Amino acid sequence: MNGRFGRFGGRYAPETLMGPLMELEAAWRRLKDEPAFAAELAALLKDFVGRPTALTPAVRLGGELGLTLFLKREDLAHTGAHKINNTVGQVLLAKRMGKTRVIAETGAGQHGVATATAAARLGLSCVVYMGSVDMERQALNVYRMRLLGAEVRAVESGSKTLKDAVNEAMRDWAASVKDTHYVLGSALGPHPFPAMVRGFHEVIGTEARAQVLAAAGRLPDLAVACVGGGSNAIGLFSGFLADASVALVGVEAGGTGFGPGEHAARFAPGEGGGRPGILHGSFTVLLQDGHGQVRDTHSVSAGLDYPAVGPEHAALAESGRARYESVTDAEALAAFDRLARTEGILPALESSHAVAWLCREAKAWKGKLVVLNLSGRGDKDVESVRKARGDG
Ligand SMILES: *Cc1c(COP(=O)(O)O)cnc(C)c1O
Repeated sequence: MNGRFGRFGGRYAPETLMGPLMELEAAWRRLKDEPAFAAELAALLKDFVGRPTALTPAVRLGGELGLTLFLKREDLAHTGAHKINNTVGQVLLAKRMGKTRVIAETGAGQHGVATATAAARLGLSCVVYMGSVDMERQALNVYRMRLLGAEVRAVESGSKTLKDAVNEAMRDWAASVKDTHYVLGSALGPHPFPAMVRGFHEVIGTEARAQVLAAAGRLPDLAVACVGGGSNAIGLFSGFLADASVALVGVEAGGTGFGPGEHAARFAPGEGGGRPGILHGSFTVLLQDGHGQVRDTHSVSAGLDYPAVGPEHAALAESGRARYESVTDAEALAAFDRLARTEGILPALESSHAVAWLCREAKAWKGKLVVLNLSGRGDKDVESVRKARGDG
């Protein structure tokens, strides 16, 4: 718990953020094991988020693939994805720290909506920073956040997208920490965020492990999840990290190819992939050019479209405990269709990446038992799917 995962992680923050980060770390360490805090969080997860989420046997798709498949249904959590586990946890922590205001960054708007939701439920005011380009692309989520009582502030710097929104939120926090907590949206950023966000998502892995043991009578051979910043994946993996017999696979966005700007596959081998470096306060693996400039990324799924990855995944890749692979936009879109038609579930395009990888690699897992984290529901992506397929 020193903020390091192997040689990755740490706290590379400007002087103005060191105080806020240390205050947060102290509060989190004190509260996370406090029975009253744990009980209040457990009650929120049960009565508000709707946990435990189901572990659904995917009998038709599993049959086609020749393996036994269980889906961990984070799509059934309130607001339709795993992100609410983290925002409810962090907003409750903020409230217990005596903060009255939370801020967040958001790209596609999913984390912004989840933060606004938790803030409304717990009675804190909420400001969400969002690139103006993203606000235009995700107008419905902007409106959702406003309906939930949040203020959405347009970010006009840089590329006017997610990484600029993170910078703006950090600037706000440095100036407002007295009454404000910054709700970071994935297992990223300076210590204690990667460890803390993982902690709030461990419930995914804890539930999945108990559920698969109850349903199948044994541990799975494989646990697989998509990896943007890496929060849903580390949540699932945490349940099986100590079980050496369980293979762990994270699936990144392969976009349209391995050229610069065409993907977000930080662990892709060779020239196209990422190298160690620092972004947003953490030493991790990130996509950068020869001069260390952060590269542009592309993915059909907004939640996977980020140049860096959580430092714990960088360490798991380096140690070999987990493997990271990628699938293309086209493969993810085909998997979206396939899960819809075989299982009656529209998966988020992010989650579709994990499904796509399993479909492609199924032969190697014949007869095996697989748990796949369905990180979110696909209703938000229906318009993107329609456009990508040219269905008018
Ligand atoms: C945000 C998001 C992701 C990617 O974030 P992680 O931190 O990598 O989990 C994946 N799936 C869904 C549905 C999301 O909303």
